[in-house]
Amino acid sequence: MKRTNYAGRTSKEQIGQEVVLKGWVAKRRNLGGLIFIDLRDREGIVQLVFNEEDNPTAFAVANECRSEYILEVSGTVRARAEVNPDLATGEIEVVVATAKILARSKTPAFAIKDDVDATEDLRLKYRYLDLRRPQMMKNMKLRSKVAAIVHNYYDANDFMDVETPNLTRSTPEGARDFLVPARTEAGHFYALPQSPQLFKQLLMAAGVDRYYQMARCFRDEDLRGDRQPEFTQIDTEMSFATAEEIQEMTEGLIKRVMKEALGVDVQTPFPRLDWQEAMDRFGSDKPDTRFGMEIHDLSDLVKDSSFKVFSSTVAAGNYVRAICVPDGADKYSRKDITKKEDYIKRYGAKGLAWVKVTADGYNGPVAKFLTDLADPINDRLGAKEGDLILFVAASFKVVCDSLGYLRRAIAKELDLIKPGQWNYLWVVNWPMFEYDEGFGKWIAAHHPFTMLKEEDLHYLEDGEDPHQAHAQSYDIVLNGNEIGGGSIRIHDPQVQEKVLKALGYSKEEANARFGFLLRGLENGMPPEGGLAFGFDRWVMLLAGADNIRDVIPFPKNSHGVEPMTAAPGTVDQEQLDELHLQVAKDQGNYSAD
Ligand code: ASP
Repeated sequence: MKRTNYAGRTSKEQIGQEVVLKGWVAKRRNLGGLIFIDLRDREGIVQLVFNEEDNPTAFAVANECRSEYILEVSGTVRARAEVNPDLATGEIEVVVATAKILARSKTPAFAIKDDVDATEDLRLKYRYLDLRRPQMMKNMKLRSKVAAIVHNYYDANDFMDVETPNLTRSTPEGARDFLVPARTEAGHFYALPQSPQLFKQLLMAAGVDRYYQMARCFRDEDLRGDRQPEFTQIDTEMSFATAEEIQEMTEGLIKRVMKEALGVDVQTPFPRLDWQEAMDRFGSDKPDTRFGMEIHDLSDLVKDSSFKVFSSTVAAGNYVRAICVPDGADKYSRKDITKKEDYIKRYGAKGLAWVKVTADGYNGPVAKFLTDLADPINDRLGAKEGDLILFVAASFKVVCDSLGYLRRAIAKELDLIKPGQWNYLWVVNWPMFEYDEGFGKWIAAHHPFTMLKEEDLHYLEDGEDPHQAHAQSYDIVLNGNEIGGGSIRIHDPQVQEKVLKALGYSKEEANARFGFLLRGLENGMPPEGGLAFGFDRWVMLLAGADNIRDVIPFPKNSHGVEPMTAAPGTVDQEQLDELHLQVAKDQGNYSAD
């Protein structure tokens, strides 16, 4: 029988009509002589009615059904005696005429409902069951909808969808590569792309002019809540465009996605914040502007303070900065503050000084040192009686990281973030380079192919400090999350060579790794730039999910394992031999000998 419609889309307009539905048994209630089945498909649920007296054959089939059996039914839509306001199809039900079991199911590993209490690994192992849950299905639909809008939008704006290889060479986006051993050439490896960066630049050299791709990217990083080793980028590139034009094109996409996928109007252009301002006011290069509690610099006020920690910090060229927690004095005990202090020590802070603002002035362990400065400090912070002031004295990075963290953590704890806000903004004017403590060297803040500000090009000359330079790069931020970033690219081979040199690549190394790009730059490369969105993270935020795995159909768990297929797995000795590989004796299932 041909299905007439999705079960979940059966509507009251169909009252009196015959329908054919196919779906899973979500729930069965046997009232003796009368069985109700909730039939589920991807669009939702509809109630089926089986009456023993009227239709003993169909009733017998219903009697045999268990959870997650697949049923084909035909029947008539009728109005329900009692409306269920919680269900989209709650005004109707289907009186079943014929019923057939299309597939049987074991008792599922967990109940198919939104407030499932199964562990995440169990959900991932039986992901197809998990994806049957309404919320997960809703997330997948949203993902598909956003992807469709992306394709339509870029197509309408003359972008070409061009595929780039997944078996390629290492592309330096700052993460570890996934490597694929080459069978045809012993000891050689493909790298999976961390992004299609160099290919899309070379597509501009090819004259493609406007490129986009829903691109798979691979980065072998330690996994956090919103990271996955393989993820999808909405990757774009535009020839002859300025940073502003690329941002405007991106804003157009966001506006459309917000409207068509969520029904929300967002105002463009989005605010632009200089990187320096974002760091100074919010302690973060992805500022969350949905609440206040901004950071204020007090260095000038406390530089002669009798509190030595403050005055010596300023004397050493560092900073004393603070946030004011509105009505926080009663909400945070000494013990609570000590906990916060312990936390920010992981960012390198030595301590967390604090005062409570009372009718009689400051209160707290360092209050006595700051009493005579209370007026100007309160003025700068907008502090009033009942507030709590938290101070950090340290280097720029430590102050920003610590207060940036505190501001977010406290806003969450005190529920200061009003729901329903969509604060998109651009962070622009980034430093070109940043010092990576882990690697102990300077790295590109965006990537090594990013163009400097024209007025900063002189920093690349001999005898100047390249690390002073700023880049023509920009990040797009939503509610305190970086959802994308891009830049104008270097299209002059000499500038590219100088930047690679500033990053510590010798001429030979630069040629060995990026020779193909450098040759591209020498063969008629237009000025150009682009941007890539982290599609998964964006969809996660649009879906209101707090776990990126909830918007990825088959994600890896936090150990990089995909529990359904149990990847990664071991392979046969024969496969290893073909790839010219040996596995160390004590690892994997197969030893080298
Ligand atoms: N390829 C960059 C990234 O993956 C984005 C870009 O510059 O377009 O972050």
